[in-house]
Amino acid sequence: NTPLHELDPAVAAAVDAELHRQQSTLEMIASENFAPVAVMEAQGSVLTNKYAEGYPGRRYYGGCEHVDVVEQIAIDRVKELFGAEHANVQPHSGAQANAAAMFALLKPGDTIMGLNLAHGGHLTHGMKINFSGKLYDVVAYHVGEDGRVDMHEVERLAKEARPKLIVAGWSAYPRQLDFAAFRRIADEVGAYLMVDMAHFAGLVAAGLHPNPVPHAHVVTTTTHKTLGGPRGGVILSTAELAKKINSAVFPGQQGGPLEHVIAAKAVAFKVAASEDFQERQRRTLEGARVLAERLVQDDVKAVGVDVLSGGTDVHLVLVDLRNSELDGQQAEDRLHEIGITVNRNAIPNDPRPPMVTSGLRIGTPALATRGFTAEDFAEVADVIAQALKPSYDAEALTARVKALADKHPLYPGLTK
Ligand code: PLP
Repeated sequence: NTPLHELDPAVAAAVDAELHRQQSTLEMIASENFAPVAVMEAQGSVLTNKYAEGYPGRRYYGGCEHVDVVEQIAIDRVKELFGAEHANVQPHSGAQANAAAMFALLKPGDTIMGLNLAHGGHLTHGMKINFSGKLYDVVAYHVGEDGRVDMHEVERLAKEARPKLIVAGWSAYPRQLDFAAFRRIADEVGAYLMVDMAHFAGLVAAGLHPNPVPHAHVVTTTTHKTLGGPRGGVILSTAELAKKINSAVFPGQQGGPLEHVIAAKAVAFKVAASEDFQERQRRTLEGARVLAERLVQDDVKAVGVDVLSGGTDVHLVLVDLRNSELDGQQAEDRLHEIGITVNRNAIPNDPRPPMVTSGLRIGTPALATRGFTAEDFAEVADVIAQALKPSYDAEALTARVKALADKHPLYPGLTK
């Protein structure tokens, strides 16, 4: 029972340093969030010790009576949260959820359609060296000149390629998708529709974004982005596909489920059904809107900074640096220098290489979780706008970042 800092001071020191980094900087990576202490408590519990291959009531191991309770709670809560007929809460991550969903619906060599990676899609939606690109024949669709998914192209490609599965979803896209239109096209060509709502699931849970569940055969998600839970994945589906999905996850893709993570997912689903959570998601959206509005002002336009699609309907903004002297890497480094963490991101028709890019993806979920209001987001937005100019006062901007971090303490009870 030796505590971590005694048993392994090297690991404990790195964990402490990471806590300090999260507390003292402004986290604006769009896919990140801060899990509640109760979620981390469940995730750090004795459930990590338990093998439970199978599903509640039908396990291949003894002693599963308590993890059965936990997993059933998680299943019931997530079905209720999104109005789904069936849920599998075992995928270890979003990528595993997508792999299992595709494994359930497709055979190697089948054709799938997904949003091109550089246009905002995810690796698992058909990138060449990902399993999805290696196992399946991929036809990618794109965003148009206006920065929005070109549904005419989706329809045209679907009719030409007759895919078995169409994936709708994104990792870097600032607008909402038309799920009904995707379903109509899928039905026309006899394809399954899978929506990957990993990024916007929290907004859906709060009723602030259209719910894909009534439109899709399968919906996958992560639980750690806007949803604010532990790192993990979930698959939702129609009752008709339940058996296929379950056997694709186990034994198809995974062995023993991570019941400690499933317990943490259950806690996160409870939180996501609360009014506090809705209010937080409202601030998340408001923050992104405020940020987008600041980054299209004349003073930043003058230095070549712009916002893709001209704004946002979700929790992130995509900054277009094609006309800026800063590339994505330099802009990411510049913001890191003053205490703001973001990631560079390839943008459609990016003239710079993928490791450099001409874009930044900036998200508001983590700061909304810290309690940031529209006024705080306006201050962050101005700090970012100033930092992206050729001449900027790093010291003054760092002080403004620190003031915001101090105003909204993170995990105060965890500081030693
Ligand atoms: N799907 C989408 C749309 C994502 O953005 C991501 C992660 O960024 C994933 C799936 C994969 O999730 P994970 O990193 O948990 O495997």
